Amino acid sequence: MPTEFELIDSYFANSPVNREDVVLGVGDDAAVVQVPEGYQLVAAVDTLVSGVHFFPDVQPDALGHKALAVNLSDFAAMGAVPAWATLALTLPEVDTAWIRRFSHGFEQLAQQYQVQLIGGDTTRGPLTISVQLLGYVPAGHAVRRSGARPGDLIFITGTLGDAGAALAVQQGMLDAGAELRGALSQRLNKPLPRVGAGLALREVAHAMIDISDGLAADLGHILGQSDVGARIDFDRLPVSESLAGLVSQLNDAAQQRGRMQIKDVDGTRPAPWPGYLDFCLAAGDDYELCFIAPADAEDRIISELRKLECPMSVVGEIEAAPGLRARLADGTVVTVQPGGYQHFGNDP
Ligand code: ADP
Ligand code: MG
Repeated sequence: MPTEFELIDSYFANSPVNREDVVLGVGDDAAVVQVPEGYQLVAAVDTLVSGVHFFPDVQPDALGHKALAVNLSDFAAMGAVPAWATLALTLPEVDTAWIRRFSHGFEQLAQQYQVQLIGGDTTRGPLTISVQLLGYVPAGHAVRRSGARPGDLIFITGTLGDAGAALAVQQGMLDAGAELRGALSQRLNKPLPRVGAGLALREVAHAMIDISDGLAADLGHILGQSDVGARIDFDRLPVSESLAGLVSQLNDAAQQRGRMQIKDVDGTRPAPWPGYLDFCLAAGDDYELCFIAPADAEDRIISELRKLECPMSVVGEIEAAPGLRARLADGTVVTVQPGGYQHFGNDP
């Protein structure tokens, strides 16, 4: 069985990415990098725990991909350039085939964004993967959650709900053919972070967040930190063809997993709200960007994102009154209760 050092040497010491700004990479007590002049260091870390964040039998290359992808998505939301990563890997046993595939998934994505693995830690214990991503942003130009203003528009990249639907398929709540299953699980297991879009939006977005816990919760963070409210339009929420084909099943599945709390505008009585939209608002793991920008920037945003082939939708507007509201197809406005979502099966 290889020792810890042999493992590191074989799978983590030779990043296919060789950046000039890495002064010292894997092999010493710590790594040293050079942040470009006029830029600030940006850091994010995310931990994936087996049985909590992923199924123990998930493909190791998908796991390597996702562990980096979730951090890249955080960088996208800051408008930051990713550059360096460290990896803390806790493994129950030394399974070199597993480690090779994990490292392959990680490195493929790392190469795509020129992220160099510069260090880490390897320990024995319950399977846990922690990736720290480092990078930079022009000083003072990181996009925060706090800059949304009344009258600004709410934009979303891509589509929402596919990852949540993939989870529901895996839990046996939805019946989908092989092709559909494949398309949905790709969204759950191999999310594509919107790094290019985040960079393109850096000078135009007033606020930005990546959608990891569902639009309602994540937009809620922007609203809270910007001290504003918002209205989203029910029929503008972007859904994929896969999701559109599953609407009636999703409506049923939503009943099983617990419904979002949508109330009339007084916040007193439940309002009609198709269950499939819960998957767009509260299912999580989408890794799309939600960003806020002034209405007069819309044309510029459309053309910038078109160049990147990044789909984009305007889904609503920032308002002065606190709280999150949704406008239904018939024009009625309802309130979306913050944190008003009950996760299925968790509570006794
Ligand atoms: P130390 O005992 O000084 O913390 P280690 O023996 O843990 O050092 O690691 C030796 C070198 O290998 C260090 O440069 C460390 O950053 C790197 N390293 C350890 N594990 C990993 C890993 N999973 N991925 C990348 N680099 C790693
Ligand atoms: Mg040391």
